Amino acid sequence: MSGDRFDYIVTGAGSAGCVVAARLSENGKYRVLLLEAGGKDSNAWIHIPLGFARTYVNPKVNWKFETQPQPQLNNRQLYLPRGKTLGGSSSINGMVYIRGNHGDYDEWRQRGCEGWDWDSVLPFFRKAENQARGEDAFHGVGGPLHVSDQPSKFELAEAALEACEQAGIPRNPDFNGAQQEGCGYYQTTTNRRRRWSTAKAYLEPARGRPNLEVRTGAHATKVLIENGRATGVEYQADQGRRTALARREVVVSGGAYGSPQLLLLSGIGPGQHLQDLGIPVVKDMPSVGSNLHDHFNTNLAWRCAKAITLNDLENSWPRKISAAIRYALFRSGPMASNGIHAGLFTRSDPRLERPDLQVNIFEWSTMERSAIRVKPHPFPGFTLMPVHLRPEGRGTVRLKTADPLAPPAVLFDYLRTDYDVRALLAGIRLCRTIAAQPALKPYVMEEILPGSATRSDDDMVEYVRQTGVSNQHPTSSCAMGHGPNTVVDPRLHVHDIGGLRVADASIMPVVVGGNTNAPAIMIGEKCAAMMLEDVA
Ligand SMILES: Cc1cc2nc3c(=O)[nH]c(=O)nc-3n(C[C@H](O)[C@H](O)[C@H](O)COP(=O)(O)OP(=O)(O)OC[C@H]3O[C@@H](n4cnc5c(N)ncnc54)[C@H](O)[C@@H]3O)c2cc1C
Repeated sequence: MSGDRFDYIVTGAGSAGCVVAARLSENGKYRVLLLEAGGKDSNAWIHIPLGFARTYVNPKVNWKFETQPQPQLNNRQLYLPRGKTLGGSSSINGMVYIRGNHGDYDEWRQRGCEGWDWDSVLPFFRKAENQARGEDAFHGVGGPLHVSDQPSKFELAEAALEACEQAGIPRNPDFNGAQQEGCGYYQTTTNRRRRWSTAKAYLEPARGRPNLEVRTGAHATKVLIENGRATGVEYQADQGRRTALARREVVVSGGAYGSPQLLLLSGIGPGQHLQDLGIPVVKDMPSVGSNLHDHFNTNLAWRCAKAITLNDLENSWPRKISAAIRYALFRSGPMASNGIHAGLFTRSDPRLERPDLQVNIFEWSTMERSAIRVKPHPFPGFTLMPVHLRPEGRGTVRLKTADPLAPPAVLFDYLRTDYDVRALLAGIRLCRTIAAQPALKPYVMEEILPGSATRSDDDMVEYVRQTGVSNQHPTSSCAMGHGPNTVVDPRLHVHDIGGLRVADASIMPVVVGGNTNAPAIMIGEKCAAMMLEDVA
């Protein structure tokens, strides 16, 4: 079985896993195996910026998890899309490129994560990046990850941004520059109007390397651990159960749900939970799968007076055909952008040090957005989505059964505290203030979600409990740091287990105040750099 002996094995070819595998194999010295449960990223919708409304529900590229009943949300079970293909969630996400607030990383350092303060992580953001605007103190060029401006200005986004200014929120031309607060256009992880996932950015250029092997349809079921050290990975492939051995290290990069699940299946986790399921306990570590949290959002939508929204595209075959032709021939038109053109960051309370609210401006509105379908309203509409970036509630990832192929049990604790509720209410009020500004007057016909009858705080809280959803930014289920509430140390080693690291969004000690793809890529970059440093 010499063919199945590698220096490094990485499980999960997502935002972070592709980076780790590509960087470890770069110098040609080490044999690297990358295992991905999903298939190749050949679905055409992955690569078209507007296609993420399709991959959002497609089981061929999406795990399509759901939560356990959420106590604070009237026991609803929320839909959790996650990428299950090369590139992972970077192949199905909204492509918004945001790093979070500088202070978020300084907070990580204050929580005991040496080497993760803003000044220490900035070089890894820059190393990853190929910024279309060119290089400056915050941005890099020549990296694998293309970061682009929106293909053009958009009438509705322009009006919404003007309305934000009228509501007192200043323009910010670069959310990833000197400061995060303000309103403006989002940049995206796209290249020449195609999605730029980590599979495209990192894996494709590395695929010719003889020392990198990428296996798709390879679902890791267990990390093999002998005498307190990871020695390989057991995985399920089409041909049945397989084993691959790692001479040096195993890196778990399955994302905030997949990574704790694999550790639990390998006997690393809360001892009693593992015993209840008949899994031999390798290391009793209650922190595994604990500390899960996520950004949480609700949606406010307005009927639009002009037929310029994506609803009007989706509801008309002639428009769809014309958009497809424009995209196919010229890479232009509505399919060339992600439809989330702009947004803002602000504070729910001026006494806060950093923004805790993001508002996404969507040029569509939906009557249904579920695991089954995304269905726009049958008339023009747009959405303002307030997102709470600093939730206090903490949840868990646990196993439902010992079957490694079963989905994990995911429980969030959204709206746990008064602050969690207050912040979102402030976001709702802000969205209404923006929609009431003169710049949006020619566009706003009526509020359709929640509707003008929902006015009191109590009614709005009930609306949020009935309709609030995951912002699809789960993190921190294998938190980094020191002490009993953490899983990995600041060099991303799993505590007390040799040769085993975790590298993905699950290691964030606390979620950053912004979208999570760029930070997951930075984590992959930093992990690979630390691993290569350790063998130098
Ligand atoms: C619908 C959606 C929209 C989003 N929009 C944005 C956005 O606009 N901007 C932004 O910054 N972020 C966005 N995000 C979040 C962002 O994409 C994620 O935070 C980021 O991709 C997480 O990276 P990761 O490496 O932790 O996990 P992932 O990228 O999810 O990678 C995990 C990989 O591991 C694989 N895997 C899991 N378990 C196993 C196993 N046992 N064996 C083998 N393989 C396994 C998975 O198939 C997957 O490929 C969005 C996410 C979703 C789902």
